[in-house]
This record gives sequence, structure tokens and C-alpha cells, in this order.
Amino acid sequence: MNEDNSVIVAGGFIIQLMPGLSDEEISAIEQSIGAFPPVTTLLEQSMELDEMLRRIVPDVKILDEMDIVFACHCSRERVERTLISLGRKELEEIRDSGHEEEEVICDFCNEVYKFSREDISHLISQLDEQE
Ligand SMILES: [Zn+2]
Repeated sequence: MNEDNSVIVAGGFIIQLMPGLSDEEISAIEQSIGAFPPVTTLLEQSMELDEMLRRIVPDVKILDEMDIVFACHCSRERVERTLISLGRKELEEIRDSGHEEEEVICDFCNEVYKFSREDISHLISQLDEQE
């Protein structure tokens, strides 16, 4: 962290074991990870990522590299499905709550989805079609 609390470096491992590894190979990987200094420390020392990998799996072959991004998979369609799953009674209560508009905020990315009373009625009519 910087003094203003902004993040300078952050790192960690996600390892997916593929079929075909022996128990010895798996425990060797576990041991090297366990004995590994914190990734953040190594990043501060400007260690390259491929060097870190080589320390854990000496004969590693890097097939591809890609940037990671934080991306939430929420969408208006998913939120609608969640609302529909609440059931008719709940939806009617929301519709009749007197609010012109309801907001659903994603817990993960804080995206705001707005639903007008009309939208809620539309969801209720979708329930009618299902029944
Ligand atoms: Zn989201």
C-alpha cells in the first residue's frame, strides 16, 4: 500500500490441478507454495512472474499469459430472473409499495438496476405465462 492507501502491488496464486498428476507431484507443489514468500513481498522486490512460477514448478512451460480483470456476470436479465423467483406475492407487494421505481443493487459490483412499477407488472405477467 501507498501512504494514501492506494494499492501498489497485490498478488497470489490460483492453481488448478489437472488430471494425471501423481500424489508426489501434487505434494511437491503444495510444499513449494507453502515455503514460498508472500507474493506481495516478491512483487515489491520486482521479481518477474515467470521467475516465481519457475521457483514453484522448475520445468514450467508458459503457454499463454493474460491480464486479469474484475468482471461481474450480473445483467438485467439475471436480476429479472431473481425477481421472478421471488414469486407472485412478493412481486405484487413490490408493485403496490407506492414507489415509482425500485432499485436492485448488485452485491458484487454495485451496478444499479432500476425497475419501474410497469417493469414489475411485466415480470408478474411473465409469471402468468409460466403458470
Ligand atoms: Zn454485478
